[in-house]
Amino acid sequence: MKIVRVDAEADDITYGTVEPDGIRLYHGSPLFQWERSETVLPITQVKLLAPVIPTKVVAVGKNYAEHAAEMASDLPDRPIIFLKPPTSVIGPMSPIRLPEASLEVHHEAELAVVMAKVARNVAAEDVSNHILGYTVANDVTARDLQRSDGQWTRAKGFDTFCPLGPAIDTEFDPTEPHAITATVNGEIRQDGSTSDMVFGVGELVSFISSVMTLLPGDVILTGTPAGVGPIRSGDHVEIDIEGIGVLVNPVVAS
Ligand code: ZN
Repeated sequence: MKIVRVDAEADDITYGTVEPDGIRLYHGSPLFQWERSETVLPITQVKLLAPVIPTKVVAVGKNYAEHAAEMASDLPDRPIIFLKPPTSVIGPMSPIRLPEASLEVHHEAELAVVMAKVARNVAAEDVSNHILGYTVANDVTARDLQRSDGQWTRAKGFDTFCPLGPAIDTEFDPTEPHAITATVNGEIRQDGSTSDMVFGVGELVSFISSVMTLLPGDVILTGTPAGVGPIRSGDHVEIDIEGIGVLVNPVVAS
């Protein structure tokens, strides 16, 4: 099943699922309780929003060997985690706004995990029972500020720096290899496979849940493959994960 969150005309914000003839609307939320409605809207009539509103976004650094190498970093012996604020989340087609404070903003294509249930001290083999599904993320990063600040809160935390979407795929299997790419203005910049992660989804979620309780709707970004690079005002960024979909965002000056 592919779950979307939509701003349906004349309706409250609501969830839906992707069906062959359009978006089926639901009352409620897949995180708690939801109920199928009779309404199916053509996809051209709905504005897709970020598929979830997390209480936190936990991201993982240096989880692909070639990206760690391009950052002149050694591979960590445990996951390196950091937080992005929920206010950084935007949906498909919403603009990434470049802050004036940075001269070097980069794209980072990432597989995102969406939690379904409260998770605390979950064993790696039980993690899949706590996951709703998977979506596509862009861990937008002000690379110059990441270097100069010595920690990452500002560089990773600007408004609009966490595009998510277009849908949450509940059948995606992260243990299988899936192509993950970032394309800017039609040029492929990142071209990796989710099978190249250093720590897999089970290990990552288990580790993070030993540090902080994960709540329904929380999002985990699992790291980016090699090829990160700058985005500029006027650019068109597409992050594609095989099997889930393509997340498209324009880039604008702040
Ligand atoms: Zn990242």
